[in-house]
Amino acid sequence: MPLLTDTKALLLGFWTTWKHIFRRPVTIEYPDEKRVPYPRFRARIVLTRDPDGGERCVACYLCSAACPVDCISMQAAETDNGRRFAAWFRINFSRCIFCGLCAEACPTMAIQMTPDYEICKREIMDLVYEKEDLLISGCGKDPEYNFYRHAGIGVVNRRGGNPDEEPPVDPRSLMP
Ligand code: SF4
Ligand code: SF4
Repeated sequence: MPLLTDTKALLLGFWTTWKHIFRRPVTIEYPDEKRVPYPRFRARIVLTRDPDGGERCVACYLCSAACPVDCISMQAAETDNGRRFAAWFRINFSRCIFCGLCAEACPTMAIQMTPDYEICKREIMDLVYEKEDLLISGCGKDPEYNFYRHAGIGVVNRRGGNPDEEPPVDPRSLMP
């Protein structure tokens, strides 16, 4: 019966409309109203410092190698005591796809994603961020982590003699 089928379809359509008509709208009036993203939202990238205030980045190029769109570049340098750092560090945000692979690859937690998504610019060249634009004064998401205390040039003790480190295991002692 086509009439019955059509009426049923019509009523179902109206029912769906009525079901949603009094629901809270999901759209927001940006920029007057701003959505607060989750803390793990991946947007503007920063370079963080360790708890002592030193730069965490050791210019190892891992983030640059991991980046699928090649938008990170830098130049490594060394201080007089042998500590590596980035003489310059550049991210081209006009190419960045905010995948987070650079932050995943970073062994020192230096490069981190933030939820700040408002980085649009009128001039495309303003989206090229230099080290001074990227480096923040804080530690970011992991305030305790200090790479140099675990693996840097400050680690001068024998294996097992450093804080948070177990003594090495003699494999011969494990043999039956
Ligand atoms: S978030 Fe992805 S695309 Fe952007 S700089 Fe990092 S690795 Fe490259
Ligand atoms: S930000 Fe991290 S991965 Fe990139 S060069 Fe610096 S230490 Fe290496």
